[in-house]
Amino acid sequence: MFAKVLVNLPVEGPFDYKIPKPLQDAVKPGCRVWVSFGPRRLVGYVVGLSPTSKFPSAKEIEQLIETEPILDENMLNLTKQMSRRYLCSWGEAIDAAIPSSLKKGKVKVNARKQDVPEHIEPTTHMPPSQDQKKSLEEIYKAIEQKQHQVFLLHGITGSGKTEVYLQAIEKVLSLGKACIVLVPEISLTPQAVERFHARYKEKVATFHSRLTQGQKYEQWKKIKDGICHIVIGTRSAIFSPVKNLGLVVVDEEHDTSYKQQDTPRYNAVWAAVQRAQNSSAVVILGSATPSLESYYKAKHKEYRLVNLRERIEKRALPVVNIVDMRKEIVERKRRHIVFSRVLNEAINKTLDNNEQAILFLNRRGFSTYANCKKCGYVFRCRKCNVALNFHSDKKKLICHYCNYQIDPVDICPECRSSYLNYFGFGTQRVESELHKFFPTAAIGRMDTDSMTKRQSHKEILKDFASGKYKILVGTQMVAKGHDFGQVTLVGVISADTALNLPDFRAGERTFQLLAQVAGRAGRGSKPGRVIIQTYTPHHYAILCSVQHDYESFYEKEILLRKELLLPPFSNMIVVTLRSYKEEKAKSAASELAKTLCKLKTSGCYEVAGPVPDMIYKLRRQFRWNVILKVKNLEIITEKLKDILKNSRPSGARLTVDVDPL
Ligand code: ADP
Ligand code: ZN
Ligand code: ZN
Repeated sequence: MFAKVLVNLPVEGPFDYKIPKPLQDAVKPGCRVWVSFGPRRLVGYVVGLSPTSKFPSAKEIEQLIETEPILDENMLNLTKQMSRRYLCSWGEAIDAAIPSSLKKGKVKVNARKQDVPEHIEPTTHMPPSQDQKKSLEEIYKAIEQKQHQVFLLHGITGSGKTEVYLQAIEKVLSLGKACIVLVPEISLTPQAVERFHARYKEKVATFHSRLTQGQKYEQWKKIKDGICHIVIGTRSAIFSPVKNLGLVVVDEEHDTSYKQQDTPRYNAVWAAVQRAQNSSAVVILGSATPSLESYYKAKHKEYRLVNLRERIEKRALPVVNIVDMRKEIVERKRRHIVFSRVLNEAINKTLDNNEQAILFLNRRGFSTYANCKKCGYVFRCRKCNVALNFHSDKKKLICHYCNYQIDPVDICPECRSSYLNYFGFGTQRVESELHKFFPTAAIGRMDTDSMTKRQSHKEILKDFASGKYKILVGTQMVAKGHDFGQVTLVGVISADTALNLPDFRAGERTFQLLAQVAGRAGRGSKPGRVIIQTYTPHHYAILCSVQHDYESFYEKEILLRKELLLPPFSNMIVVTLRSYKEEKAKSAASELAKTLCKLKTSGCYEVAGPVPDMIYKLRRQFRWNVILKVKNLEIITEKLKDILKNSRPSGARLTVDVDPL
């Protein structure tokens, strides 16, 4: 007998290995084995058996790691589909689907207990609201009929989405089936897990990055052995070995943390839908601000749209004010302003009332755009509608989708003033200004720089919740999920940083972010207020978020996407070439772009490149991209795989990202 074996390398496979006599009956598909592969000894995944081989002199399997397969047929299927969709090898896809504690071929079980709350108050079931009832009726029907269906549950924070998930789970459990609940990393707080534990006790298994490998393995084993029927976890929890899957819930389905940023670059939302489809299960994608792709599918009946229109108990949404920073600059005759007069006054009032404020700041990171502080003009690519990225080393403004370049100028092309600005400010600048203006206030700061210790994130939030800090300043981290009753003011220092990211989704991200930030204000009994500072107060992403109007935002954004053939009207694929030698990376990308132009006849709209990556140099390697806009992904991925296989550039490394975020 021969076994068909895959390894976690960017090579296709499967590879044939002879099964030694004593293992003839023990080796099964889904088992792991030790094999020698070239000069190396690697863990291999058995995906099939065969009495014959085209390579009768194939090497023998060295060792069988376990007799009980760790991957069932469903999982082999899903990972194979994933390798096709995301252009990785099947072995790489499998590797992403198993817990890391199993990857090295041994298991380290650590007996430390998981930090699950011990005493849980039983929850009383509340009667569902009108909207919840309507949504649940449809969801129940699909669950009972064992019919694959994707529901897009659109409802603002506090509208009772989690309650809908819980009731749908209840239904699934009553039919003897299992559920997977995916949440973004940042919102998997102990409180969130507690809500599930309170209802379903030891039936719940949890997965997140704070677990040790041993703890992860323990959870994995409980699911595999059928002890747990509900899995709640981050991205990779979609691969949990649940049997008899009835429902997958994806909370905050628009969240970028569902996309894995290393090979295989899959999106867990895709994996959730695919897995559910394979097992005729139901999916609920929940969000206050669905991704354009999902909402488009819902509008075109591929998904079923269900709405929760109001907050529970009709709690009011906060009042949102826009501050036009252009006026501020002109009226105060200053070139740099961090706090507008309106925000300054509002912070003072909040402190006087002994209430709390959150100040939100988007991190600039690698991206620097150029704008005019007098009229709000931003240098954009006409063809791609993204802000041009300023490269200080090259002294150029560059479009990262098509490589359009211009020289920076000193005079604004719009208003002829000299208020052009090529740099921004970071959290530290904001914090030092804060201390200057509010010397007596206790200020907590939360961003990736201050988050070096594992616990400090939690500690800062705790100190803020207890009232030790009056003001919390931070990046994205402060925007999500937290519930502070004393926060009456949320200030967005600059909405423009999100809006002018060199990303075609910048408008979408801005809307999502502002909606989320606004959700932080006025969660207690006191009404909340949101102040957004911006140099582009007329932008629809900002105007629609003031009105809490997703629908209008969608209508405007989708037109633009259609006009420029951007997703959901196409799929994007980015091929990145990296090399320590700048010229090598560029010429390899240029070669590849030429070859890929052939794809234009078979379902490809556009090939652009070579284009410098937004992160042009990383770990001493230079990065050049070739970007494809594709109309038929299925046709293209097959052909693209062939092309890439045959054009391995020398001296440059290549990575592919399908549907990059
Ligand atoms: P979301 O997930 O959309 O943010 P939640 O499900 O967390 O909303 O609901 C917000 C709050 O309203 C929670 O405190 C929840 O317990 C409560 N809630 C949800 N549904 C109901 C209901 N039908 N009746 C009363 N309270 C509810
Ligand atoms: Zn201007
Ligand atoms: Zn462009």
